[in-house]
Amino acid sequence: MRASRVSASLGARVAIAESGRLGGTCVNVGCIPKKLFSYAAHFRDEVKDAADFGWSVAEPVLDWGKLLENKEREITRLNGVYERILVNAGVEILRGKAFIRGGNEVEINGKSVTARHILVATGSWPQLPDIPGKELAITSNEAFFLEKLPPSVLVVGGGYIAVEFASIFNGLGVKTTLAYRGAQLLRGFDDDLGKRLGEEMARKGVSLLLRKNPVKIEKGLKVTFEDKSIQEFDLVMFATGRRPNTAGLGLEAAGVKLGADGAVVVDAYSQSSVASIHAIGDVTDRLNLTPVATAEGMALSKTLFGGQPTPVDHENVPTAVFANPNIGTVGLTEAKARERHGKVDIYKTAFRSLKHTIGQSEERIFMKLVVDAASQRVLGAHMLGPDAGELIQGIAIALKMGATKAQFDATIGIHPTAAEEFVTMREKSA
Ligand code: NDP
Repeated sequence: MRASRVSASLGARVAIAESGRLGGTCVNVGCIPKKLFSYAAHFRDEVKDAADFGWSVAEPVLDWGKLLENKEREITRLNGVYERILVNAGVEILRGKAFIRGGNEVEINGKSVTARHILVATGSWPQLPDIPGKELAITSNEAFFLEKLPPSVLVVGGGYIAVEFASIFNGLGVKTTLAYRGAQLLRGFDDDLGKRLGEEMARKGVSLLLRKNPVKIEKGLKVTFEDKSIQEFDLVMFATGRRPNTAGLGLEAAGVKLGADGAVVVDAYSQSSVASIHAIGDVTDRLNLTPVATAEGMALSKTLFGGQPTPVDHENVPTAVFANPNIGTVGLTEAKARERHGKVDIYKTAFRSLKHTIGQSEERIFMKLVVDAASQRVLGAHMLGPDAGELIQGIAIALKMGATKAQFDATIGIHPTAAEEFVTMREKSA
């Protein structure tokens, strides 16, 4: 979308080939409907909190059909908005599956189209471990269209999608089990975040099975785990990673080098081993986040048609995990910072939010700063708590600018907020 629109605005003649709904994974079966579901799921906590503030509220009952219908209406609206954006930019939309015939030729529905540049932005697709009965399970693709919410669900995995969907199902009232093969959720994130998220999710009612991996699924749905234990669930969802969408595209025959898992190998300017073929987003398996793909698209348009060769800086990219509670994070984890910088100062705080000082919620907010001991630059900022994704965006600007701990400290806090803790942490914890 972004590369097409910006390239067209820079004077290029652009056509886009799409076999599905416009907007890709993010709009149709990713970020947008996921966040809508996440809002829906959070209302359960909100209703409980409301009672603590004196409201008389009945036990909430979810109308799943209504949520699906409203979600679908919004996604269809967005599909329309995207189409209008392309049409208004003068981009030709070619409906159908594309096959790359060479460095400058693409076939769509048996018709050949030639172009000076070809951009592959085909995204990624859920991958499942190859175990007997895997066809009885769903992935996030199907989770967005379930006819009925099941009484119970097993979510497999410990990454973004697993914790987000386990939180969603749990919040929507489904008896939720999360099974992850590792010892701690969210590998690659700061260790404190994975550990604390697991504790908070368990507290909210998710049955968390760590070091546990399914090896067989039978009708029923009877799931056998590695340790030979067996449990039954009404639905099993795999969130065990995604693989670049390059199969059957004709890339290898066209001379494009593919890496592990079929990702298109590109340079800093998103150029593949064939000079006229470029690739951006999940299909390159660099940093698989929508805004990163968008930035790569924008940079490519400038490089090819704006006379400004533009690489994308993949450092200090903030990200959020929309689990319950949310995670917001930017920069280096403590482990990575120690590896790269040696000595680091760590500041941490965990507390109950003011909102939860009234009432029964035991939820704790957690914040952490990782600081380079020598330069005092803040290398990483991590948060677990309500709206962490909203909050970390501003902190990310400070990190991108190279802010020091002293500059954080010199910033006056906003009282009473949770965010002010980021500028009032004084005691080193390590
Ligand atoms: P992730 O790569 O984040 O996580 C995959 C999880 O599945 C890991 O816990 C991994 O375990 C586990 N796993 C992998 N293979 C197996 C296997 N064979 N058996 C059991 N477990 C396995 O992928 P997701 O599917 O969660 O999400 C895909 C990507 O989409 C994310 O990496 C992210 O880039 C993007 N995304 C971003 C979101 C956001 O910005 N909020 C939301 C959703 C997705 P281990 O750690 O041990 O390897």
